[in-house]
Amino acid sequence: MTVSHSEGLAGASVRAAPSEAGEIAPLVQPWPRAGGIGATSLGPIISGDGVYVEDAQGRRLIDGPAGMWCVNVGHRNKALADALHDQAMQLTYTSPWYTSNNPAETLARALADRAPGDLKHVFFTTGGSSAVETALRLMQFYNNVRGRPEKKLIVSRHGGYHGSTYLSASLNGRPRVDDWMDSATGLTCKLSCPDPFRRPAGVSRDAFEDFLEAEFRELIEQKGAERIGAFIAEPVQASGGLLVPTEHYLERMRAVCSEHDILFIADEVVTAFGRLGHIFASRDVFRVQPDMITFAKGVTSGYFPLGGVMVSARIFEELRRSNHPDAMFLHGFTYSSHPIGCAVALRNLELLENGILDHVRSLSGYFQERMKTLAFLALVGDVRVCGLMAGVECVADRTSNNPLQLDLDVGKRIDRHCQELGLLVRPLINMCVISPPLVITKDQVDQLVEILHKGISLTMDDLVRERLWLGRSE
Ligand code: PLP
Repeated sequence: MTVSHSEGLAGASVRAAPSEAGEIAPLVQPWPRAGGIGATSLGPIISGDGVYVEDAQGRRLIDGPAGMWCVNVGHRNKALADALHDQAMQLTYTSPWYTSNNPAETLARALADRAPGDLKHVFFTTGGSSAVETALRLMQFYNNVRGRPEKKLIVSRHGGYHGSTYLSASLNGRPRVDDWMDSATGLTCKLSCPDPFRRPAGVSRDAFEDFLEAEFRELIEQKGAERIGAFIAEPVQASGGLLVPTEHYLERMRAVCSEHDILFIADEVVTAFGRLGHIFASRDVFRVQPDMITFAKGVTSGYFPLGGVMVSARIFEELRRSNHPDAMFLHGFTYSSHPIGCAVALRNLELLENGILDHVRSLSGYFQERMKTLAFLALVGDVRVCGLMAGVECVADRTSNNPLQLDLDVGKRIDRHCQELGLLVRPLINMCVISPPLVITKDQVDQLVEILHKGISLTMDDLVRERLWLGRSE
Protein backbone atom coordinates (compact mmCIF):
# COMPACT_ATOMS: atom_id res chain seq x y z
CA MET A 1 0.00 0.00 0.00
CA THR A 2 1.40 3.35 -0.94
CA VAL A 3 1.25 6.34 1.30
CA SER A 4 1.19 9.78 -0.13
CA HIS A 5 1.72 13.17 1.34
CA SER A 6 -1.21 15.25 0.31
CA GLU A 7 -0.18 18.53 -1.19
CA GLY A 8 -0.86 22.08 -0.23
CA LEU A 9 -3.14 22.72 2.69
CA ALA A 10 -2.54 19.39 4.33
CA GLY A 11 1.06 19.36 3.21
CA ALA A 12 2.48 20.88 6.38
CA SER A 13 1.73 17.76 8.33
CA VAL A 14 4.52 15.62 9.62
CA ARG A 15 5.55 12.51 7.85
CA ALA A 16 2.88 10.12 6.61
CA ALA A 17 2.78 6.87 8.51
CA PRO A 18 2.38 3.82 6.29
CA SER A 19 -0.68 1.73 7.02
CA GLU A 20 -0.21 -2.04 7.08
CA ALA A 21 -1.22 -3.73 3.84
CA GLY A 22 -5.00 -3.91 3.68
CA GLU A 23 -5.44 -1.83 6.82
CA ILE A 24 -7.87 1.02 6.69
CA ALA A 25 -7.32 4.45 8.18
CA PRO A 26 -10.53 5.52 9.92
CA LEU A 27 -9.55 9.17 10.17
CA VAL A 28 -10.00 10.96 6.86
CA GLN A 29 -7.99 14.16 6.71
CA PRO A 30 -8.31 17.12 4.34
CA TRP A 31 -7.27 16.77 0.73
CA PRO A 32 -6.80 13.02 0.38
CA ARG A 33 -5.88 11.64 -3.02
CA ALA A 34 -8.14 8.97 -4.51
CA GLY A 35 -5.31 6.41 -4.57
CA GLY A 36 -4.75 6.61 -0.82
CA ILE A 37 -8.17 7.63 0.47
CA GLY A 38 -9.19 5.74 3.56
CA ALA A 39 -5.79 4.07 3.71
CA THR A 40 -3.43 6.90 4.60
CA SER A 41 -2.61 8.39 7.92
CA LEU A 42 -0.36 11.25 8.91
CA GLY A 43 2.02 11.23 11.84
CA PRO A 44 0.41 12.88 14.85
CA ILE A 45 1.65 15.92 16.68
CA ILE A 46 1.56 15.11 20.37
CA SER A 47 1.98 18.38 22.19
CA GLY A 48 2.78 22.05 21.83
CA ASP A 49 4.34 24.77 23.93
CA GLY A 50 4.87 28.38 22.81
CA VAL A 51 6.28 28.30 19.29
CA TYR A 52 7.16 24.59 19.49
CA VAL A 53 5.32 21.36 18.84
CA GLU A 54 6.48 17.84 19.57
CA ASP A 55 5.80 14.88 17.29
CA ALA A 56 5.38 11.18 18.07
CA GLN A 57 9.12 10.55 17.79
CA GLY A 58 9.76 13.16 20.46
CA ARG A 59 11.18 15.67 18.00
CA ARG A 60 10.73 19.28 19.07
CA LEU A 61 9.90 21.41 16.05
CA ILE A 62 9.36 25.12 15.59
CA ASP A 63 5.78 25.39 14.38
CA GLY A 64 6.59 27.27 11.16
CA PRO A 65 2.98 27.60 9.94
CA ALA A 66 1.48 28.16 13.46
CA GLY A 67 -0.82 25.21 12.83
CA MET A 68 -2.67 26.60 9.81
CA TRP A 69 -1.83 30.32 10.25
CA CYS A 70 -3.89 30.22 13.40
CA VAL A 71 -2.02 29.56 16.67
CA ASN A 72 -1.20 33.25 16.96
CA VAL A 73 -0.55 33.50 20.71
CA GLY A 74 1.37 30.22 20.66
CA HIS A 75 0.61 26.78 22.05
CA ARG A 76 -0.32 25.98 25.63
CA ASN A 77 -1.38 29.48 26.57
CA LYS A 78 -2.86 29.21 30.04
CA ALA A 79 -4.97 32.36 29.80
CA LEU A 80 -6.80 30.98 26.76
CA ALA A 81 -7.11 27.50 28.26
CA ASP A 82 -8.60 29.08 31.41
CA ALA A 83 -11.04 31.19 29.37
CA LEU A 84 -12.18 28.04 27.60
CA HIS A 85 -12.59 26.10 30.83
CA ASP A 86 -14.27 28.93 32.74
CA GLN A 87 -16.83 29.58 30.01
CA ALA A 88 -17.59 25.85 29.66
CA MET A 89 -18.34 25.77 33.38
CA GLN A 90 -20.39 28.99 33.23
CA LEU A 91 -22.47 28.37 30.10
CA THR A 92 -21.50 25.78 27.53
CA TYR A 93 -24.00 26.59 24.85
CA THR A 94 -27.19 28.45 24.13
CA SER A 95 -29.21 28.65 20.92
CA PRO A 96 -28.28 31.63 18.74
CA TRP A 97 -31.77 31.48 17.19
CA TYR A 98 -33.72 32.10 20.38
CA THR A 99 -31.22 33.59 22.82
CA SER A 100 -28.01 35.54 23.00
CA ASN A 101 -25.07 35.18 25.38
CA ASN A 102 -22.74 37.62 27.11
CA PRO A 103 -19.42 36.61 25.51
CA ALA A 104 -20.94 36.92 22.01
CA GLU A 105 -22.49 40.33 22.78
CA THR A 106 -19.25 41.63 24.30
CA LEU A 107 -17.09 40.28 21.51
CA ALA A 108 -19.40 41.76 18.85
CA ARG A 109 -19.06 45.21 20.45
CA ALA A 110 -15.29 44.85 20.80
CA LEU A 111 -14.91 43.89 17.14
CA ALA A 112 -17.26 46.64 15.94
CA ASP A 113 -15.06 49.12 17.87
CA ARG A 114 -11.94 47.82 16.16
CA ALA A 115 -13.14 47.18 12.61
CA PRO A 116 -12.56 49.94 10.06
CA GLY A 117 -15.19 52.53 9.18
CA ASP A 118 -18.80 51.50 9.41
CA LEU A 119 -18.26 47.74 9.85
CA LYS A 120 -20.43 47.81 12.94
CA HIS A 121 -22.06 44.37 12.81
CA VAL A 122 -20.76 40.86 13.08
CA PHE A 123 -22.29 37.49 12.24
CA PHE A 124 -20.33 34.70 13.93
CA THR A 125 -19.70 31.41 12.15
CA THR A 126 -17.74 28.23 12.77
CA GLY A 127 -14.63 28.99 10.71
CA GLY A 128 -13.33 30.62 7.54
CA SER A 129 -15.33 28.80 4.87
CA SER A 130 -18.58 29.40 6.71
CA ALA A 131 -17.60 33.07 7.13
CA VAL A 132 -17.03 33.44 3.38
CA GLU A 133 -20.23 31.52 2.64
CA THR A 134 -22.12 33.85 4.98
CA ALA A 135 -20.74 36.97 3.28
CA LEU A 136 -21.72 35.62 -0.15
CA ARG A 137 -25.20 34.55 0.87
CA LEU A 138 -25.70 37.93 2.53
CA MET A 139 -24.73 39.64 -0.74
CA GLN A 140 -27.30 37.48 -2.57
CA PHE A 141 -29.99 38.24 0.01
CA TYR A 142 -29.15 41.97 -0.04
CA ASN A 143 -29.55 42.15 -3.81
CA ASN A 144 -32.72 40.04 -3.82
CA VAL A 145 -34.33 42.25 -1.21
CA ARG A 146 -33.24 45.38 -3.04
CA GLY A 147 -35.02 44.19 -6.18
CA ARG A 148 -31.99 43.35 -8.29
CA PRO A 149 -31.81 39.57 -8.20
CA GLU A 150 -29.57 39.44 -11.27
CA LYS A 151 -26.71 41.21 -9.44
CA LYS A 152 -25.07 38.11 -8.02
CA LEU A 153 -21.87 37.24 -9.86
CA ILE A 154 -18.90 36.89 -7.54
CA VAL A 155 -15.50 37.95 -8.82
CA SER A 156 -12.42 36.32 -7.29
CA ARG A 157 -8.80 35.96 -8.42
CA HIS A 158 -6.56 33.17 -9.56
CA GLY A 159 -4.20 32.33 -6.72
CA GLY A 160 -6.92 32.93 -4.11
CA TYR A 161 -8.18 30.54 -1.46
CA HIS A 162 -11.52 31.06 0.26
CA GLY A 163 -12.57 27.72 1.69
CA SER A 164 -14.06 24.27 1.25
CA THR A 165 -17.82 24.78 1.18
CA TYR A 166 -19.36 24.59 -2.29
CA LEU A 167 -19.65 28.31 -2.99
CA SER A 168 -16.50 29.42 -1.18
CA ALA A 169 -14.50 26.65 -2.90
CA SER A 170 -15.87 27.79 -6.26
CA LEU A 171 -13.93 31.01 -5.77
CA ASN A 172 -10.62 29.29 -5.25
CA GLY A 173 -8.06 29.84 -7.92
CA ARG A 174 -5.21 27.66 -6.84
CA PRO A 175 -3.31 25.64 -9.39
CA ARG A 176 -4.61 22.09 -9.82
CA VAL A 177 -6.93 22.34 -6.87
CA ASP A 178 -10.21 22.18 -8.71
CA ASP A 179 -9.24 19.65 -11.36
CA TRP A 180 -11.47 16.91 -10.00
CA MET A 181 -13.99 18.94 -8.10
CA ASP A 182 -17.24 20.47 -9.30
CA SER A 183 -17.88 24.12 -8.71
CA ALA A 184 -20.61 26.71 -9.03
CA THR A 185 -19.13 28.10 -12.22
CA GLY A 186 -22.23 30.03 -13.31
CA LEU A 187 -22.08 32.13 -10.15
CA THR A 188 -18.43 33.10 -10.25
CA CYS A 189 -15.71 34.49 -12.48
CA LYS A 190 -12.00 35.00 -11.97
CA LEU A 191 -9.50 37.73 -12.61
CA SER A 192 -5.74 37.33 -12.95
CA CYS A 193 -3.60 36.61 -9.95
CA PRO A 194 -2.03 39.89 -8.79
CA ASP A 195 1.33 38.22 -8.05
CA PRO A 196 4.04 40.69 -9.08
CA PHE A 197 6.67 37.93 -9.23
CA ARG A 198 4.77 36.16 -12.00
CA ARG A 199 3.85 39.27 -13.98
CA PRO A 200 4.59 38.98 -17.69
CA ALA A 201 8.24 39.48 -18.63
CA GLY A 202 9.14 43.07 -19.42
CA VAL A 203 6.07 44.50 -17.68
CA SER A 204 6.82 46.96 -14.85
CA ARG A 205 5.01 46.71 -11.50
CA ASP A 206 3.08 49.89 -12.31
CA ALA A 207 2.04 48.62 -15.72
CA PHE A 208 1.01 45.32 -14.12
CA GLU A 209 -1.24 47.19 -11.69
CA ASP A 210 -2.74 49.15 -14.61
CA PHE A 211 -3.39 45.88 -16.41
CA LEU A 212 -5.15 44.33 -13.39
CA GLU A 213 -7.45 47.31 -12.97
CA ALA A 214 -8.18 47.41 -16.71
CA GLU A 215 -8.96 43.71 -16.68
CA PHE A 216 -11.54 44.22 -13.91
CA ARG A 217 -13.10 47.12 -15.82
CA GLU A 218 -13.25 45.00 -18.96
CA LEU A 219 -14.97 42.18 -17.10
CA ILE A 220 -17.56 44.64 -15.79
CA GLU A 221 -18.08 45.98 -19.28
CA GLN A 222 -18.49 42.48 -20.61
CA LYS A 223 -20.78 41.03 -17.94
CA GLY A 224 -22.54 44.26 -17.00
CA ALA A 225 -22.24 45.95 -13.58
CA GLU A 226 -25.89 45.08 -12.97
CA ARG A 227 -24.87 41.40 -12.85
CA ILE A 228 -21.86 41.64 -10.54
CA GLY A 229 -22.60 41.48 -6.81
CA ALA A 230 -19.23 41.16 -5.12
CA PHE A 231 -15.49 41.17 -5.48
CA ILE A 232 -13.66 39.05 -2.90
CA ALA A 233 -9.96 39.27 -2.17
CA GLU A 234 -7.49 38.16 0.45
CA PRO A 235 -5.36 41.28 1.04
CA VAL A 236 -2.36 38.95 0.78
CA GLN A 237 -3.08 35.70 -1.03
CA ALA A 238 -1.94 33.34 1.67
CA SER A 239 -2.44 29.75 0.57
CA GLY A 240 -1.57 30.78 -2.99
CA GLY A 241 2.01 31.27 -1.78
CA LEU A 242 2.01 34.51 0.14
CA LEU A 243 1.39 36.72 -2.84
CA VAL A 244 1.67 40.37 -1.81
CA PRO A 245 0.03 42.66 -4.38
CA THR A 246 1.60 45.83 -5.75
CA GLU A 247 1.28 48.95 -3.65
CA HIS A 248 -2.05 50.44 -4.82
CA TYR A 249 -3.72 47.37 -6.28
CA LEU A 250 -6.30 46.89 -3.52
CA GLU A 251 -7.22 50.58 -3.38
CA ARG A 252 -7.72 50.60 -7.14
CA MET A 253 -9.92 47.49 -7.06
CA ARG A 254 -11.90 49.04 -4.21
CA ALA A 255 -12.45 52.19 -6.27
CA VAL A 256 -13.72 50.16 -9.23
CA CYS A 257 -16.14 48.33 -6.89
CA SER A 258 -17.45 51.64 -5.50
CA GLU A 259 -18.02 53.02 -8.99
CA HIS A 260 -20.17 50.03 -9.90
CA ASP A 261 -21.94 49.30 -6.63
CA ILE A 262 -20.09 45.99 -6.23
CA LEU A 263 -19.53 44.87 -2.65
CA PHE A 264 -15.85 44.58 -1.71
CA ILE A 265 -15.32 41.60 0.59
CA ALA A 266 -11.90 41.42 2.22
CA ASP A 267 -11.16 37.83 3.20
CA GLU A 268 -9.01 38.40 6.28
CA VAL A 269 -9.17 34.82 7.55
CA VAL A 270 -5.36 34.85 7.62
CA THR A 271 -4.43 38.54 7.84
CA ALA A 272 -6.67 39.57 10.77
CA PHE A 273 -5.86 39.17 14.46
CA GLY A 274 -2.24 40.10 14.52
CA ARG A 275 -0.51 38.40 11.61
CA LEU A 276 0.27 41.82 10.10
CA GLY A 277 0.48 43.64 13.43
CA HIS A 278 -3.15 44.82 13.51
CA ILE A 279 -6.53 43.39 14.47
CA PHE A 280 -7.75 43.99 10.90
CA ALA A 281 -5.31 44.73 8.10
CA SER A 282 -7.56 46.09 5.33
CA ARG A 283 -7.42 49.71 6.36
CA ASP A 284 -4.42 49.77 8.70
CA VAL A 285 -2.06 48.09 6.25
CA PHE A 286 -3.68 48.38 2.81
CA ARG A 287 -5.75 51.60 3.14
CA VAL A 288 -8.99 50.01 1.93
CA GLN A 289 -12.43 50.17 3.47
CA PRO A 290 -14.25 46.90 2.72
CA ASP A 291 -18.03 46.41 2.79
CA MET A 292 -17.49 43.14 4.63
CA ILE A 293 -14.50 41.46 6.27
CA THR A 294 -14.41 37.72 6.82
CA PHE A 295 -12.23 36.39 9.63
CA ALA A 296 -11.51 33.11 11.51
CA LYS A 297 -8.32 31.30 12.61
CA GLY A 298 -6.42 33.92 14.69
CA VAL A 299 -9.64 35.22 16.30
CA THR A 300 -9.26 32.42 18.86
CA SER A 301 -5.63 31.58 18.06
CA GLY A 302 -6.98 28.19 17.02
CA TYR A 303 -8.12 27.30 20.56
CA PHE A 304 -11.75 27.04 19.42
CA PRO A 305 -13.34 26.92 15.94
CA LEU A 306 -14.82 30.36 15.33
CA GLY A 307 -15.13 32.73 12.39
CA GLY A 308 -17.30 35.62 11.38
CA VAL A 309 -18.18 38.41 9.00
CA MET A 310 -17.99 42.10 9.82
CA VAL A 311 -20.74 43.86 7.88
CA SER A 312 -21.15 47.50 6.92
CA ALA A 313 -23.90 49.37 8.78
CA ARG A 314 -24.96 50.78 5.40
CA ILE A 315 -25.89 47.30 4.12
CA PHE A 316 -28.15 46.68 7.10
CA GLU A 317 -29.66 50.16 6.93
CA GLU A 318 -30.59 49.55 3.31
CA LEU A 319 -32.13 46.21 4.23
CA ARG A 320 -34.13 47.81 7.03
CA ARG A 321 -35.40 50.48 4.63
CA SER A 322 -36.25 48.03 1.82
CA ASN A 323 -39.72 47.27 0.51
CA HIS A 324 -39.53 43.76 1.95
CA PRO A 325 -39.23 44.10 5.72
CA ASP A 326 -40.45 40.50 6.15
CA ALA A 327 -37.78 38.97 3.91
CA MET A 328 -35.78 36.58 6.06
CA PHE A 329 -32.04 35.93 5.82
CA LEU A 330 -32.40 32.17 6.21
CA HIS A 331 -28.87 31.52 7.30
CA GLY A 332 -27.28 30.48 10.57
CA PHE A 333 -25.34 27.73 12.24
CA THR A 334 -25.99 25.79 15.43
CA TYR A 335 -22.65 27.08 16.62
CA SER A 336 -23.04 30.72 15.51
CA SER A 337 -22.09 32.95 18.48
CA HIS A 338 -20.78 29.98 20.46
CA PRO A 339 -20.21 31.28 24.00
CA ILE A 340 -17.01 29.29 24.52
CA GLY A 341 -15.52 30.44 21.21
CA CYS A 342 -16.48 34.04 21.94
CA ALA A 343 -15.04 33.93 25.48
CA VAL A 344 -11.77 32.55 24.12
CA ALA A 345 -11.75 35.24 21.41
CA LEU A 346 -12.22 37.99 24.02
CA ARG A 347 -9.24 36.75 26.04
CA ASN A 348 -7.25 36.34 22.83
CA LEU A 349 -8.02 39.95 21.88
CA GLU A 350 -6.73 41.09 25.26
CA LEU A 351 -3.50 39.16 24.77
CA LEU A 352 -3.01 40.57 21.29
CA GLU A 353 -3.61 44.12 22.46
CA ASN A 354 -1.49 43.78 25.58
CA GLY A 355 1.82 43.36 23.80
CA ILE A 356 1.57 40.88 20.95
CA LEU A 357 0.55 43.37 18.25
CA ASP A 358 3.40 45.67 19.31
CA HIS A 359 5.76 42.71 19.29
CA VAL A 360 4.72 41.80 15.72
CA ARG A 361 5.16 45.37 14.55
CA SER A 362 8.60 45.66 16.07
CA LEU A 363 9.81 42.19 15.02
CA SER A 364 8.52 42.08 11.45
CA GLY A 365 11.35 44.23 10.04
CA TYR A 366 13.91 41.83 11.50
CA PHE A 367 11.92 38.79 10.36
CA GLN A 368 11.78 40.26 6.86
CA GLU A 369 15.51 41.03 6.79
CA ARG A 370 16.41 37.52 7.96
CA MET A 371 14.00 35.77 5.59
CA LYS A 372 15.34 37.81 2.67
CA THR A 373 18.81 36.32 3.22
CA LEU A 374 17.39 33.08 1.76
CA ALA A 375 17.14 34.84 -1.60
CA PHE A 376 20.90 34.30 -2.01
CA LEU A 377 20.37 30.57 -2.36
CA ALA A 378 20.48 29.55 -6.02
CA LEU A 379 17.24 27.60 -5.84
CA VAL A 380 15.29 30.54 -4.45
CA GLY A 381 13.58 32.79 -6.98
CA ASP A 382 11.62 35.03 -4.65
CA VAL A 383 11.17 35.69 -0.93
CA ARG A 384 8.01 37.57 -0.03
CA VAL A 385 7.38 38.85 3.45
CA CYS A 386 4.45 40.70 5.00
CA GLY A 387 4.13 41.13 8.77
CA LEU A 388 5.02 37.81 10.34
CA MET A 389 4.47 35.66 7.29
CA ALA A 390 6.74 34.77 4.44
CA GLY A 391 6.74 32.78 1.24
CA VAL A 392 9.90 31.31 -0.27
CA GLU A 393 9.48 30.37 -3.91
CA CYS A 394 11.92 27.95 -5.52
CA VAL A 395 12.65 28.06 -9.22
CA ALA A 396 14.54 25.82 -11.61
CA ASP A 397 16.10 28.76 -13.34
CA ARG A 398 16.36 32.22 -11.85
CA THR A 399 16.65 33.96 -15.20
CA SER A 400 13.31 32.66 -16.43
CA ASN A 401 11.77 32.07 -12.97
CA ASN A 402 10.65 28.74 -14.34
CA PRO A 403 9.22 26.56 -11.57
CA LEU A 404 7.90 23.77 -13.74
CA GLN A 405 10.55 21.09 -13.55
CA LEU A 406 10.80 21.40 -9.81
CA ASP A 407 7.35 22.23 -8.66
CA LEU A 408 5.94 18.90 -7.57
CA ASP A 409 7.91 18.15 -4.49
CA VAL A 410 10.49 20.80 -3.79
CA GLY A 411 8.44 22.25 -0.94
CA LYS A 412 8.01 18.76 0.53
CA ARG A 413 11.68 17.94 0.12
CA ILE A 414 12.60 21.10 2.02
CA ASP A 415 10.01 20.32 4.68
CA ARG A 416 11.44 16.81 5.18
CA HIS A 417 14.95 18.15 5.73
CA CYS A 418 13.71 20.93 7.98
CA GLN A 419 11.77 18.49 10.14
CA GLU A 420 14.96 16.52 10.74
CA LEU A 421 16.57 19.79 11.82
CA GLY A 422 13.73 20.99 14.06
CA LEU A 423 11.34 23.03 11.94
CA LEU A 424 7.90 22.33 10.55
CA VAL A 425 7.42 24.06 7.21
CA ARG A 426 4.29 24.42 5.17
CA PRO A 427 5.23 23.04 1.75
CA LEU A 428 3.21 24.38 -1.14
CA ILE A 429 4.21 22.85 -4.46
CA ASN A 430 7.48 24.71 -5.22
CA MET A 431 7.15 27.03 -2.24
CA CYS A 432 7.48 27.08 1.53
CA VAL A 433 5.25 29.27 3.59
CA ILE A 434 6.22 30.40 7.06
CA SER A 435 3.82 32.07 9.50
CA PRO A 436 5.05 31.29 13.00
CA PRO A 437 3.21 31.94 16.25
CA LEU A 438 3.31 35.70 16.79
CA VAL A 439 5.14 35.30 20.11
CA ILE A 440 8.27 34.10 18.33
CA THR A 441 11.43 35.81 19.61
CA LYS A 442 14.38 37.23 17.66
CA ASP A 443 16.52 34.23 18.61
CA GLN A 444 13.83 31.85 17.46
CA VAL A 445 13.57 33.74 14.15
CA ASP A 446 17.35 33.23 13.76
CA GLN A 447 16.95 29.54 14.53
CA LEU A 448 14.05 29.22 12.06
CA VAL A 449 15.92 30.95 9.23
CA GLU A 450 19.10 28.95 9.90
CA ILE A 451 17.19 25.67 9.67
CA LEU A 452 15.32 26.76 6.55
CA HIS A 453 18.63 27.80 4.98
CA LYS A 454 20.10 24.37 5.74
CA GLY A 455 16.94 22.60 4.56
CA ILE A 456 17.02 24.40 1.21
CA SER A 457 20.78 23.81 0.83
CA LEU A 458 20.37 20.09 1.49
CA THR A 459 17.52 19.99 -1.01
CA MET A 460 19.76 21.65 -3.60
CA ASP A 461 22.39 18.95 -2.96
CA ASP A 462 19.76 16.22 -3.40
CA LEU A 463 18.48 17.73 -6.64
CA VAL A 464 21.98 17.97 -8.08
CA ARG A 465 22.82 14.42 -6.97
CA GLU A 466 19.62 13.11 -8.53
CA ARG A 467 20.39 15.07 -11.70
CA LEU A 468 17.13 16.97 -11.44
CA TRP A 469 18.75 20.36 -11.30
CA LEU A 470 22.01 21.83 -12.54
CA GLY A 471 22.85 24.97 -10.68
CA ARG A 472 24.34 25.40 -7.26
CA SER A 473 25.94 28.75 -6.77
CA GLU A 474 25.19 31.07 -3.88
N1 PLP B 1 -10.23 32.15 3.61
C1 PLP B 1 -8.89 32.13 3.66
C2 PLP B 1 -8.13 33.35 3.21
C3 PLP B 1 -8.20 31.01 4.13
O1 PLP B 1 -6.87 31.00 4.15
C4 PLP B 1 -8.95 29.91 4.57
C5 PLP B 1 -8.27 28.70 5.08
O2 PLP B 1 -7.07 28.55 5.02
C6 PLP B 1 -10.35 29.95 4.49
C7 PLP B 1 -10.96 31.09 4.03
C8 PLP B 1 -11.17 28.78 4.94
O3 PLP B 1 -11.14 28.69 6.31
P1 PLP B 1 -11.55 27.33 7.08
O4 PLP B 1 -10.55 26.31 6.68
O5 PLP B 1 -11.51 27.74 8.53
O6 PLP B 1 -12.93 26.98 6.66
